[in-house]
Amino acid sequence: MVESTESESRKLLGRLREVMAGESAGQERLDEITHLIADSMGTEVCSVYLFRDDETLELCATEGLNVESVHQTRMRLGEGLVGRVAKFGKVVNTPDAPSAKGFRYMPETGEERFSSFLGIPIQRLGEKLGVLVVQSREAREYSADAVYALEVVAMVIAEMTELGAFVGEGAALSPLHQQPVLLPGTVAQEGAAEGHVWLHEPRVVVTNPIADDPHRELERLNEAVEQLRVGVDKMLEMSQNGDKEQLKVLEAYRMFANSKGWMKRMEEDIARGLSAEAAVEKEQSQARARMGQVQDAYLRERLADLDDLSNRLLRILTGQGSHNAADLPADPILIARNIGPGDLLEYGRSLRGIVLEEGSVGSHAAIVARALAIPLVVNSARITTEALNGDHIMVDGEQGVVHLRPDDSVVSAFRDKIAMQAKAQERYTSIREKPAETLDGKRVNLVMNAGLMADLPSLNSSGAEGVGLFRTELQFLVRNQMPKRSELVALYERVLDAAEGKRVVFRTLDIGSDKVLPYMKPTDEPNPALGWRAIRVGLDKPGIMRMQLQALMRAANGRPLTVMFPFVAQFEEYRAARAEVEKTLERERILGHPLPETLEVGAMLETPSLAFAPRKFFEEVEFLSIGGNDLKQFFFAADRENERVRKRYDTLNVSFLSLIEQIVERCAETDTPLSFCGEDAGRPIEALCLAAIGVGTLSMRPASIGPVKSLLMRTNLDDLRKVIFDARHRGEQSVRPAVMRYLRDL
Ligand code: PEP
Ligand code: MG
Repeated sequence: MVESTESESRKLLGRLREVMAGESAGQERLDEITHLIADSMGTEVCSVYLFRDDETLELCATEGLNVESVHQTRMRLGEGLVGRVAKFGKVVNTPDAPSAKGFRYMPETGEERFSSFLGIPIQRLGEKLGVLVVQSREAREYSADAVYALEVVAMVIAEMTELGAFVGEGAALSPLHQQPVLLPGTVAQEGAAEGHVWLHEPRVVVTNPIADDPHRELERLNEAVEQLRVGVDKMLEMSQNGDKEQLKVLEAYRMFANSKGWMKRMEEDIARGLSAEAAVEKEQSQARARMGQVQDAYLRERLADLDDLSNRLLRILTGQGSHNAADLPADPILIARNIGPGDLLEYGRSLRGIVLEEGSVGSHAAIVARALAIPLVVNSARITTEALNGDHIMVDGEQGVVHLRPDDSVVSAFRDKIAMQAKAQERYTSIREKPAETLDGKRVNLVMNAGLMADLPSLNSSGAEGVGLFRTELQFLVRNQMPKRSELVALYERVLDAAEGKRVVFRTLDIGSDKVLPYMKPTDEPNPALGWRAIRVGLDKPGIMRMQLQALMRAANGRPLTVMFPFVAQFEEYRAARAEVEKTLERERILGHPLPETLEVGAMLETPSLAFAPRKFFEEVEFLSIGGNDLKQFFFAADRENERVRKRYDTLNVSFLSLIEQIVERCAETDTPLSFCGEDAGRPIEALCLAAIGVGTLSMRPASIGPVKSLLMRTNLDDLRKVIFDARHRGEQSVRPAVMRYLRDL
């Protein structure tokens, strides 16, 4: 075999480019490519295997194997040497293929004549596309140089695949990013949405993988890397006094940006004929493939840093990838790997739907999506690699599936579904003015959660009897700087005006955990959910809390006011917060401002500890609201943002219901009004069970009020209570199956 030198490699790429530029159709092109490679590498065989579906590889073109086996020979991922290359994303290089681990003989190909085997994965940015193979009769291991040359070729084939070069008449391949795809996920906010894809981080497309002039490409790479280094240094300078975590990331960036190994590999790729951007992407693809295999969390993080850095470099080189908000489609469906609540709020209500590759049902981004009533599907694997900006997309927030580029039959079925949902909502309007009274005459108070001005019109349209939770931090999260007291007064005034005398429970600032204010110095905590958050921040930094309390009192301006403190874990914290309220009230009195007509001060019960507080606490607190999202995560020790553990524990688990029941009983003993304001209050079955065990007020997203009320009106809570108790008595883990049986028989 001819040893591959740099200039030969460049020659091969030059010929590949000619094939690409030529007129030939998909299959022909691929045939020419295998011929070219075998010829240039001096091997008897060159074959290209591409994925037919996620699990199956198909021989799509060959020089040297039986031509009849093209499009006939298939193998599953992991099967045979080719399947192994694809599965592990690693090169297999062996002089004696039949004795190599995993070898599987494919008689139809006639490959038994060939002893040596070199298989290279064809992958693009973590997306597996296929395998490139060369084989020879002679038993020999291919040199490192030959492997390298073929990796460069595989990279070009990957780019060509992405660009649709093998699509067409007699197509070897169905076009990427054009076929309808159904992607499963997890529902985080119900609803159905149709629109067009808007990628939060748009993907960069390399249109020129091959370049003639390596000197020019080297210059381009060096200039871009220099620009990147200067940028990273500037960011580092600006963050010297900031968050340690961010500093660590930036330092890792700098390390990579100055890494000789990284640069050297890219320079070699360029010397072999790749363009600067293709060289960056080749390194990035390999880093991503490694990322999929590395277990060590630290290493994975570093690889993720490298990935991010490569993205920046690609953006510099191609000028692509930065968004222009003006291009946002009229009906955007946001696609992202993950997103924080602040970023999501910036998009606001302009979004029709959201699909996240990671994400979680319990995150605050999900809560924001719920507050905005935007259908959200999380955990949708591959969505960021499959979707392209502008793709037609339908989000099914009932089934938790996403239809990307749906075909006509899916489109019409989906539209029918949307129409049916609209009809169901209409049905709920007919019960809007009616009280939520059960068949056995129990009255449940249904109120709504809010946090944005835009939520307030829902007070009337949903039939909510008030606002049971106003998340004041959302207003802080949407800004770039701390709001002024006067701004807060104006805002709270508008909230109270819109409520027209209905009770609004203002929860004081609940920051920390995943709610990070961009203008506050972040803290470096190993477990932010168990860290310095909510009332802990409020009590340690009373300035902000006082300002907020003052703003609330001035906004009330002689009207009734209700204030609730989040995340109270022990009696003393409530007392201290309450004392702040009294002090602020006194100051307002001295300053001559009108005081609220009445002032109720309550606490959220979000940690199991508070359920066991002394009776005196229950006597002193004026009302309690169970923050089920946090309470559940601490009760089961299962992170609300970690889907893997969160979904193991049902809210209707008897242990959790028993805890709620105890809280109900303790509140009843002291006549303390109790409500439940976690997300579960808005899920009809959960809401029913909470009401059955005695929670009198449920606070939920406005769109849930209709469905919850409608179900409550058809239920006998006494009967349901018995069903729950019987299931618990029988030792069942969750009462859900028993409750579902009962409801089915209604
Ligand atoms: C809760 O924890 O249930 C709650 C209502 O508060 P948040 O979701 O904002 O933490
Ligand atoms: Mg909470």
